[in-house]
Amino acid sequence: MEPQYDHKKYEDEIYNLWEKSGSFKPSLKGKPFSIIMPPPNANDPLHIGHAMFITIEDILIRFHRMLGDSTLWLPGTDHAGIETQFVFEKKLSKKNESRFNFDRDTLYKMIWDYVQENSGVAIDQMKKIGASADWESFKFTLDKNIVSKVLETFIKLNHDGLIYRGEKLVNYCTKCGTGYSELEVIHEEKNSPLYYVKYYFTDEKEKYITVATTRPEPIYVDTHLAINPKNKKTKYLKGKRILNPLTGSVMEIIEDSFVDPSFGTGIVKLTPAHDQTDFEVAQKYNLPIVKAIGTNGKMIGGPFNEMKISLAREETIKMLTEKGCIEKIDKNYINKVSTCYRCHNTLEPIPLAQFFIKTKPLVNGALKALDSKETLIFGAGQEKILRHWLNNIRDWNISRQIVWGIRIPVWYSLKDNKNLEVSFIDKEGNKKSGKLSDFNFVEVEKGLQSIKASSDAKFVVSINKPDGEYLQETDTFDTWFSSGQWPVVTLQTNKRKDFDKFYPTSVMETGYDILPIWVMRMMLLGIYTTGKSPFKIVYLHGLVRDEKGRKMSKSIGNVINPLEMVEKYGADALRFALVVSSTPAQDKSVGENSFRAMRNFSNKIWNAARFVKDFENSVEDDQLFNLWCQKELPNQITKLLTNYKIGLAAESLYNDFWHRFCDIEIERAKKGEVSSKQLKEGLLTFIKLLHPFVPFVTESVYKEIFAKDKDDLLINSSWIK
Ligand SMILES: [Zn+2]
Repeated sequence: MEPQYDHKKYEDEIYNLWEKSGSFKPSLKGKPFSIIMPPPNANDPLHIGHAMFITIEDILIRFHRMLGDSTLWLPGTDHAGIETQFVFEKKLSKKNESRFNFDRDTLYKMIWDYVQENSGVAIDQMKKIGASADWESFKFTLDKNIVSKVLETFIKLNHDGLIYRGEKLVNYCTKCGTGYSELEVIHEEKNSPLYYVKYYFTDEKEKYITVATTRPEPIYVDTHLAINPKNKKTKYLKGKRILNPLTGSVMEIIEDSFVDPSFGTGIVKLTPAHDQTDFEVAQKYNLPIVKAIGTNGKMIGGPFNEMKISLAREETIKMLTEKGCIEKIDKNYINKVSTCYRCHNTLEPIPLAQFFIKTKPLVNGALKALDSKETLIFGAGQEKILRHWLNNIRDWNISRQIVWGIRIPVWYSLKDNKNLEVSFIDKEGNKKSGKLSDFNFVEVEKGLQSIKASSDAKFVVSINKPDGEYLQETDTFDTWFSSGQWPVVTLQTNKRKDFDKFYPTSVMETGYDILPIWVMRMMLLGIYTTGKSPFKIVYLHGLVRDEKGRKMSKSIGNVINPLEMVEKYGADALRFALVVSSTPAQDKSVGENSFRAMRNFSNKIWNAARFVKDFENSVEDDQLFNLWCQKELPNQITKLLTNYKIGLAAESLYNDFWHRFCDIEIERAKKGEVSSKQLKEGLLTFIKLLHPFVPFVTESVYKEIFAKDKDDLLINSSWIK
């Protein structure tokens, strides 16, 4: 054995040995044990959070493989619609190009090629971390057979009356050019001035009331103000008429209990087209819903038509000040603002016709699965959180205004939709938009960029194009609509026909931060399409934070690149540092010191093995040593791993190996109290129990000391219970 363990010398070679041996494929015998890997973005290198889930899942898979189970760990990647298109558009803009210069099909192909170029990176990195996944079963969310399964689900939902098209307020990012669902919105506290605007009465010219607002620019479309019927201070205003401070048109005051009497002056303005609550109130009282802001982030009509929102706000305040309608401005007001999780731009609630899934009818199955313990959640407090989301679910907006994704299988005929708004590139290469019937249909079809169909547009749901002059919807599904079906569609399309054997899967392991956005949807859609919850256990790991407990972020500059740590300290050190003492759903702090310390552990294993290998004595076995090493220790670790106490198992192994096996038992052996034969057996026990955690160094030791021939690998050896 080499005097020093150098991970760089061993890791790649060991990985190749495993892969070539076919060990990653499920064995024909044994109980099924399966994990579907959360698919990372196909286009991105891995971050430390990925390293966390890869490690935990690999530990579970290796443990069950050694137990003799037929293990399947199915890997894959996600097309990550919005993120990927966003990155691609940034690249385009560097070349002074924009997505608006291309027709939809061309743009899609360009992004496809771009993703293909990068797609190998994430896979190679997972291998570097030691992932013993079944690469032959690898799936990508845009694989043809996956896409057809996803489309089938939409067709089924539509057939069951669970899909509808409706104009609703969506959280729209004017920068990214797409809407988001409620769950994807980030609420950030931002400083936005609170303006106190005077509204004069129609009958008494000098008298006015004051309304506080952070959003003065759409005032010109407002038709109503609202007060709380229980508020004594404002009760006298009921039925009074006042003047719109920008347009001078007459406005009415309505009463509703939604008004918070303690906000501002207790009187609020209603802008139904651009505020979720106001929208609901407007529907309740049948008030007009007039748009003031377009999807391009510019004003529609009014005194500042076509002006950007921020500029229009300044101009509005100037105008109101000139009219004497500004009472005061609270410049230090802190407001909770909805922002884009991608670019942090403030989101605009904008009415858009979108496709929605009625989610309420799907909820019962998921609640039942929790009640009956068909699915168990590991992570303190997380089941309660999941139940909360399920009980308060809203319909799911699945339309996204991007090309990179699975195109919604909905078709609009020219015959029924002459007024359909289309944008396209004509045969001369010019951008055109307008009514469909004003253009040559074939030309529109060929150069199509986007369609904006109204909520009452007539459409046909079909996977294939219907006969005649039809245009397909240009929106794509929310990425989570396909990843929400991941455990089902990956197994259904697996060439070994694994579905019956491995569904429901054994474990879904992912971060607690995507419990509602992903895990919940997998349960809803999995139960809807198969009748069974897609997993028996949900193991939620915590976020990985820096040594000071801060979130890792580019702006702080505390991001740890897991691959850099593998390069420096070895994959084993990275893995062990991430999981040791970790608890489900609790954040874990790590820093470079943690990885360095765990590299020392790899060295400790190597050095102990070197000593044990050549150590000889001829004393009798010590029965206490055998009891500990052949029974108590394996029992304890097996019990911990069976109960998903991965962090504790790692911690005990570390302590038992370092502080008992090395510090005490090796010293006793030197004194003749433990035999060399049983010391070797003890080492073998340890490297087996440690293998799931630190697979490379343990396999290297096994090869040096225990392997009978070159095909004899620790990865396939049997567990000691
Ligand atoms: Zn954005």
